[in-house]
Amino acid sequence: MAERVEVDTNARKRPNRLEAAITNPGAVKINVTGAFIVDDEPRSKSPVDAEGVHYENKDIRLPHHTGVVSHVAVDIGGTLAKLVYFTRELDTADNGGRLNFLNFETHRIDLCINFIRQLKEEHEKRNGSTREGLCVVATGGGAYKYYDQLKEELNVNILREEEMECLIIGLDFFITEIPNEVFTYSDADAEPMQYAEARPDVYPYLLVNIGSGVSMIKVSGPRQFERVGGTHLGGGTFWGIMSLLTGSRTFDDMLAMADRGDNSAVDMLVGDIYGMDYSKIGLKSTAIASTFGKVLRLKNDAEQGAEDGEGLIRDDPSGASESSKSSHGPKPNPEDMSRSLLYAISNNIGQIAYLQSEKHSVRHIYFGGSFIRGHRQTMNTLSYAIRFWSKGEKQAYFLRHEGYLGAVGAFIRRQPQNWGRRNSVDDVVAPQAVRNLVQNNNVLQQHGRSSSDL
Ligand code: ADP
Repeated sequence: MAERVEVDTNARKRPNRLEAAITNPGAVKINVTGAFIVDDEPRSKSPVDAEGVHYENKDIRLPHHTGVVSHVAVDIGGTLAKLVYFTRELDTADNGGRLNFLNFETHRIDLCINFIRQLKEEHEKRNGSTREGLCVVATGGGAYKYYDQLKEELNVNILREEEMECLIIGLDFFITEIPNEVFTYSDADAEPMQYAEARPDVYPYLLVNIGSGVSMIKVSGPRQFERVGGTHLGGGTFWGIMSLLTGSRTFDDMLAMADRGDNSAVDMLVGDIYGMDYSKIGLKSTAIASTFGKVLRLKNDAEQGAEDGEGLIRDDPSGASESSKSSHGPKPNPEDMSRSLLYAISNNIGQIAYLQSEKHSVRHIYFGGSFIRGHRQTMNTLSYAIRFWSKGEKQAYFLRHEGYLGAVGAFIRRQPQNWGRRNSVDDVVAPQAVRNLVQNNNVLQQHGRSSSDL
C-alpha cells in the first residue's frame, strides 16, 4: 500500500510565486502542494446548505493554497451535474483551504444553479463587490445545453471547457497529485482496497469513464488522447432498467438491493446447463452463461405449478410479491434482478475495456464515472474481468473521486507551473510524461482569468 506523500515543504517558500500568479490574469492558481483527502469528517464544511445536494464526504485539503479562488467548476452530464469549488479555512494553522465535491441530478439543474448563486453571494459578501465576481467553468454536454440559463440566472462569466480534455486533465491530476486517491480492488484479498502510488511511467493508459454512457479514451501523453470506443450500455442503462424492474428511484437503493441479491436466481449459469463445471474450456459451474437466462423457465415452471395448485410465487423479502404478479406470471425478486443487472453491465464494460486495451496496447486501465460510486461489487466485477481476460497481466484502477474527473479537470485546467507533486517529482526522477504535462500546462496558461476569494 502506498504511503501518503510527504508535504513539499518548498511550497512554504513560494508565496511570491502565488502573489505573482494572482496578479497575472492569464492563469488559474490552485496550489496543490501537499494536497490530501480528508477522511475523518462526516461532511463538507460548505458555506451553503441547500436541498437536493449530494455532498461527498471526501474533500481534498489544500494546505498551501492560501490565496483566493474566484471560480467554481461544474461538469453537467446527462444524469448528474458535478460541482467542485474551493473554500478557504482562515481558522486553520496553515491558512489553507479545501476542495468541495458535490452533485445534483441534472434534471434539477435549478437546484445546482441556486447553489452556485449562494456561492456567488457568499463570495461577494466576503470579498466585497469591488473584487471580481465569481466565474463558472463549465464542461460536459450541459455546458452547452444550459449555457443561456446559467448565464441569465447567475449573471456570471461562464467559461466552457472541452469535456474529454477535462476528464483527462482531471485524471492526470488525481493520479499525479493526490495521495491515496488511486487504488486497486479485489475481494479475493484480505485487504481488498490497495492504494496505488503514481507510477513514473504514467502513459499510456486507458480511461474507461462510466457515466450515463461509457467512453473509452486512450491517453498517450498530456493532452494526447483519442476516444477509441465506448458502449451505450452504461450507468444510465442500469439506472433506467432498474427503475422499470424494481420501482426503485434512487441509485443508492438500487446498489443496496444488488448487495442483498442472488443473481443465480435469474441468471442461467454454466452449472444450470452442464450440471457441473465445463472444465475443458475453463468455465466454472458458477460462471454466468446468460444474464436473466433463467427467468422465462422459472415463470413457466411457476405457471405450471400454479395450474397444478401450487403458489404462484416464491417468498419475496422485498415485499414486492403482490405487485410483481402480472398476467404473464410472477416476477423474480428485485434484489436478484439488481444483482444480475449490475453484473451484466459491469462485466460487459470490463470485457470491452480489456479488448480495447489489447487493441491499443495499454496495460493500465482506470475506471471513472459516477456509476462506480465506490461500490464493492461493481469494482470487484470490473477488476475481475480485467484480470481474468488478461490472465493477470493487466490491472484495473479506481479513484476515490471517480465521478469528478471532468469537474476537477475544468477546475484546475489552467494550473500554473511548478506547483504540486509534479514539480517535486521533476526534481528527482522526472518522468518525461509528467514533465510534458507541466510544460503543456504552462502553454495553456495564456488563457483564463485570475483568482479571488470564494
Ligand atoms: P453523466 O456525466 O453522464 O451524468 P456520471 O459520471 O455523472 O455521468 O454518471 C451517471 C451515472 O451514475 C448514472 O447513470 C447512474 O448509473 C450513476 N449514479 C450515481 N449516483 C447517482 C445518483 N445519485 N443519481 C443517479 N445516478 C447516479
